[in-house]
Order: sequence, then C-alpha cells, then structure tokens
Amino acid sequence: MGRCIESYRIHHQMNNYFYNIPKPIFIAGPCALENEEMMDKITAYLVDKGIKIIRAGIFKPRTSPYNFQGIGINGLKILNKLRGKYNIKIISEIVDTRHMDILKDYIDIFQVGARNMQNFELLKQIGKTSVPVLLKRGMCSTINEFMNAAEYILCGGNENIMLCERGIRTFETCVRNTLDLSCVAIIKEETNLPIIVDLSHSLGRKDIAIKMAKAALACGSDGIMVEVHQNPTQALSDSKQQMNLLEFDHFINHVHDKD
Ligand code: PEP
Ligand code: MN
Repeated sequence: MGRCIESYRIHHQMNNYFYNIPKPIFIAGPCALENEEMMDKITAYLVDKGIKIIRAGIFKPRTSPYNFQGIGINGLKILNKLRGKYNIKIISEIVDTRHMDILKDYIDIFQVGARNMQNFELLKQIGKTSVPVLLKRGMCSTINEFMNAAEYILCGGNENIMLCERGIRTFETCVRNTLDLSCVAIIKEETNLPIIVDLSHSLGRKDIAIKMAKAALACGSDGIMVEVHQNPTQALSDSKQQMNLLEFDHFINHVHDKD
C-alpha cells in the first residue's frame, strides 16, 4: 500500500472534501452533455429529487472514434450556467492535462475515468491541485493498482479524493462489467478513502439497480452514481443503461427500502 494512504489511515489526518458531504452521496446525470435544453431539463428534475451533485461528460472517451465524442470545451459555459441556476456541484471527466486550467474554473469535481486510471501524468498534475477528484477503477485493474493510482494523487498533496468502483471485465456477459463489491469492502477496511459505486457502467442495465445499490451501501459504499437521461433511447451514448426520469424517481424512492 502507498505511503500516503497508509499514513492517512493510521493518523486519521486526511482533510478530504468528500468527508463533509452527507452520506450516502448520490451523483446523477446524463452520460454526456448533449445540449443545454436536455441538460437543463434533467438537472431541474434531479435537483427537485434532492440531488446536489450532477454528472455530465463533455469529453467522452469512446471505444470507436466514429461514436459521439462529447461536445468538448463548449459545454463548460452550459455547465457553469446550470451550476449557478440550480446551486449544484458539477462533476465531469478530464481526459487531458492541457485542459486542467480551463476546466478547474467550471467544474467542481474532476472525474478520472476508467481508461485513464493509470494515466500517470494526468494523476500527477491533478495531485498538484486541490480540485476534488473522483478516481474510477480501471476496467482491468486490480485493487492494488487502484490504490496505487490514488497514491499518485495523494502523494502530490491533493487529499480531496474519492474512489469509484465501476465494474471490471470478466467472462460474464449478462452485465456490462462485473461489479466487484469486494473492492468496496477492502478499500473501507484498508484505507480511509471514501468510495462510491457507479451502477450504470458496472451493470449496463437498470433492472437490478435497486438491489445492487442496496448491496453496495450494505458493504460500506459512501454513495452511488447513476446515469439519468430524459430520453435514454435517443441518448448519444450509453442508451441502454441510462435511467429515464421516472425510473430514477422509482430508484431513489426505493433504494433505502428494507426488503
Ligand atoms: C463515465 O462515467 O462517464 C464513464 C465513461 O465511465 P468509465 O470511465 O467508468 O467507463
Ligand atoms: Mn456513460
């Protein structure tokens, strides 16, 4: 285990932005920011349901170069407008160190996506800032590699870090990825870093979201992230896994049910 992670665990000395957010932390929003109108509509709905951290990708690292890549820097003005209008925190993915300066004026929480978990130059640069960061587990990364990626950010001096389990690649085909809840339990056991579960990218389906959210919270997850879109079938990315507004309403109303 890394020196900083170990020292924070022993001395309980970490100053972490995410410690001050009431638990469980729910993060919701579309996979990608497609346009202002959709983003405003989804945000208004989610804020009404009590969500305070809204996600939306403006850079979408896609498997195929021919798929929607996100609207890029142009999306920042839209996100900033909504941030003021609804008094919310915005989380969005950073994919390139060259974007750091501009992004940090518009985005409250940097997301480092699964594909960049071991982009060490990106991690080092984020480590030099104090911007809160959600670090996602690489799809083929071990828990130990995940902790080392977090260590890169921590040892640069940035303690505002939260981890995100988003499923790993296995032979299983009924889900998009295999949600590894043992990762959550181990991170809680061995570190004092907060960790949440991204249900959308781990499951790739919505029908078992409530059950898996309960399981995640039961084993210590500090929160849940889900993708929400007002018209998922027409979404420009991840259309199968995004909840529509009514599905999200059902989800958030039942996630704490005992049965
Ligand atoms: C995302 O959350 O927008 C995303 C692309 O997820 P991941 O990096 O986990 O694939
Ligand atoms: Mn997505």
